[in-house]
Amino acid sequence: MATGSRTFRNLIGGEWLDAAGGETFESVSPATGERIGTFPKSTAEDVDRAVAAARDAYASWRLVPAPRRGEILFRFGSLVREAKEELAQLMTREMGKVLPEAGGDVQEAIDMSFYMAGEGRRLFGQTTPSELPDKFNMSVRMPIGVVGVITPWNFPIAIPSWKIVPALVCGNTVVFKPANDTPLLGQRFVELLAEAGVPPGVVNVVHGFGREVGDRIVRHPEVPVVTLTGSRETGVAVLRAAADNLKHVHLELGGKNAIIVMDDADLDLAVDGILWSAFGTSGQRCTAASRVIVHERVYDELQSRLVAAAERMRIGPGWEPDTDVGPVINRSALEKIHSYTEIGRDEGARLLTGGEIATGDGLERGFYYRPTIFGDVEPTMRIAQEEIFGPTTALIRVRDADEAIRVANGIRYGLSSSIFTRDVNLAFRAMRDLEAGITYVNAGTIGAEVHLPFGGTKDTGNGHREAGQAALDVFTEWKSIYVDYSGRLQRAQIDTAGEVR
Ligand code: NAD
Repeated sequence: MATGSRTFRNLIGGEWLDAAGGETFESVSPATGERIGTFPKSTAEDVDRAVAAARDAYASWRLVPAPRRGEILFRFGSLVREAKEELAQLMTREMGKVLPEAGGDVQEAIDMSFYMAGEGRRLFGQTTPSELPDKFNMSVRMPIGVVGVITPWNFPIAIPSWKIVPALVCGNTVVFKPANDTPLLGQRFVELLAEAGVPPGVVNVVHGFGREVGDRIVRHPEVPVVTLTGSRETGVAVLRAAADNLKHVHLELGGKNAIIVMDDADLDLAVDGILWSAFGTSGQRCTAASRVIVHERVYDELQSRLVAAAERMRIGPGWEPDTDVGPVINRSALEKIHSYTEIGRDEGARLLTGGEIATGDGLERGFYYRPTIFGDVEPTMRIAQEEIFGPTTALIRVRDADEAIRVANGIRYGLSSSIFTRDVNLAFRAMRDLEAGITYVNAGTIGAEVHLPFGGTKDTGNGHREAGQAALDVFTEWKSIYVDYSGRLQRAQIDTAGEVR
């Protein structure tokens, strides 16, 4: 698909519009430097228009019966399924992940749409008995209004689906700012929503950068809910900016996820799990395994197998069938990742493999980094504490399970975690004691399914969860309803408790 020379627009109130200020920016492939397309560099004025459109559309969308909203989302899921190959190809070009992973990213959106389409016929509330005669009590989920959706580039179809699809089935309308590194995928996402029958104004897309478009969405008084996936720093900035208007803020932030490998583990399985979790998507997953905590009895064996396997991984553009590791997203990410190699060396960790920018065979046209493994890492080193967001992992040696769990928990983040062991008792202890929103047993740290809650403890978020039933709590508010059919004024127990009856 020849998109490189095309100019795209914002979608506001059903119309495709240039940025009010007329400025543009380009999306560029991290694999080759090729231009993907030109997009509006929007400002607060564009956000204000989009919020006004979303506000107008909310008046009628909230009244569309939820099963009908679900049908539109079901159609959307079907359209995404038909477009899966095209979207995966675009994703590989626009953000670099290898083609099978890009297909997986799109599949998440298909699964989420079908799951949430069914929610249109549930959105369950509760009915309960009343403390008074001839009175009926229930609680129901209500939509909230315009939802501001701000997403990162690393899951450019999946993450918008985790936010926009549940927001819509609940009856909200949306102003969506895709990541400025992946605007084309954001564009295709809303095009398919429109094609599925989402009415004009219900979903609006405003392209641009965080400090202009994102910040205005977060501060706009008529956007009561903001959902952001991004870095911890962005999360803190968004929470602060939203405070004056007491907005609902849903944050999914960074991770520093660990795989524990015990001395009774199946090491072949563990090596496969580590490779996939540490180097899949070039380590640019919030759930990537950037720490591997290994029992001292199997440390040397695991280290040598892992290094050998990492050195066999092939680096290249994600669309080449034999590529294992694609590029990282842009030059500044490449520089940040390399700076952590220097930091690790300076801290005294042992660089076992990688640690350099990959060149040759045209790789210098893109942003490629060799899979990097540090050994002899101390848990307090910066490479074991800070999110690098690249193909770098740190091996940490421990004496026993208690130390393994202590080290795993000794970080500010709490997203994903994993343990490889054949000891069922230890597996259950780990499930209980690992301080993370997600724990895998005998699998790596990645591989979420859409019908379970997704998110993290501690600095990974602010207590909400994406996906599953938990997502509905972000996009609705509870209303409790009391219906008195006694025909007389009955006062509740709270008002009559002092009276003798
Ligand atoms: P980022 O924080 O730089 O950007 C995320 C989004 O926020 C972008 O759309 C950006 O334009 C916008 N933004 C930036 N500053 C803003 C501001 N002040 N106000 C409003 N919006 C603003 O993150 P990124 O580099 O795109 O993504 C990588 C980060 O995302 C990593 O930290 C990763 O762990 C995290 N992540 C978390 C999850 C999760 O579910 N927990 C999933 C994927 C990625």
